[in-house]
Amino acid sequence: MSAVSAGSVLSAIDPDEFEVVPVGITRQGRWLLTDGDPSELAIRGRQFPEITDGAGTEVALPAGSGGRIVALDPAQGAAALADVDVVLPVLHGAYGEDGTIQGLLEMAGLPYVGAGVFASAACMDKEFTKKLMAADGLPVGEYAVLRTGQSLTEADMARLGLPVFVKPSRAGSSVGITRVDDWAQLPAAVATAREIDSKVLVEAAFTGVREIECGVLEGEYGGEPEASLPAEVHIDSRHSWYDLEAKYLDEPELDIPPRLPEHVVDEIRRTACRAFTALDCAGLARVDFFVTPELDVVVNEINTMPGFTAASAFPKMWARSGLDYPKLVSRLIRTALHRRAEHG
Ligand code: ATP
Ligand code: MG
Ligand code: MG
Ligand code: MG
Repeated sequence: MSAVSAGSVLSAIDPDEFEVVPVGITRQGRWLLTDGDPSELAIRGRQFPEITDGAGTEVALPAGSGGRIVALDPAQGAAALADVDVVLPVLHGAYGEDGTIQGLLEMAGLPYVGAGVFASAACMDKEFTKKLMAADGLPVGEYAVLRTGQSLTEADMARLGLPVFVKPSRAGSSVGITRVDDWAQLPAAVATAREIDSKVLVEAAFTGVREIECGVLEGEYGGEPEASLPAEVHIDSRHSWYDLEAKYLDEPELDIPPRLPEHVVDEIRRTACRAFTALDCAGLARVDFFVTPELDVVVNEINTMPGFTAASAFPKMWARSGLDYPKLVSRLIRTALHRRAEHG
């Protein structure tokens, strides 16, 4: 999924404004300097693209290189320096969106787009996202946390009721999530989530709700965060909830702005900005909401590196708000560079 997002960024970025050094990461964790051909990063026949060993030459991780990514070119037998001003970590999920790569980039002294170490880690972990939002008075749903070895208590079953959503605490793109309609399905759902994370969340399901997403950008030049027009997600009828296939393969229809009373749309946008600040986000985030039949607005979660394909909600919401895809990418990069200029 990250490769699909990166392919879209590569197609949209203005070559007159930015010189791109396209680095891909293989499943095994090797960093490769690729040729950056976006056509190789498209979904084909419902198959996600992958960065494989043949995709480029190896890049050494940025350690002790004075803030430079060292690109080793084995053909020349010599090290060539790829001097980058800013890193755009178009990576979803573990090692990309969870603060780990952000820590690596901090240590290497490389500026980067998006949330820092703390906000990335806090937004990746749904337990702490909810705790921090609740502490700031933001509306979140009912849930229980199952740490390693724990199972759901009878009291929690009674409190949450059915259905529930069982999720890995730290994941994304709906990976490892199961909707449970009968308690007999719970052990299998917990096992599925534990394949991704030993810590599992069991959430009371919202039923009959509408799913709304809202993009947030860090204010320009240190100003207040700005919310995009929100989007209502209409999932393809083959899916009962917004699972991975519904997100990336059977692209949902988006209503931007959603057909909701103006005061509700305003509340969503205000709440998105409050959530961004509550979690100490930077650069960008997509805040996911449920809106109940009574028009109550509840925050589901925050994504610090939201899906970024041309079909994804985040760039579409910003396009409808007056910032097209190339302008959005440019603004993200300029924000990161400005932060470096401020903090040295
Ligand atoms: P992503 O990061 O791609 O948005 P994720 O893996 O972080 O996804 P969530 O956004 O928490 O997962 O959940 C994925 C989808 O599952 C939601 O968009 C929604 O369709 C459904 N869902 C999750 N939690 C609930 C809930 N408590 N009640 C009802 N539906 C839910
Ligand atoms: Mg998420
Ligand atoms: Mg995500
Ligand atoms: Mg989500």
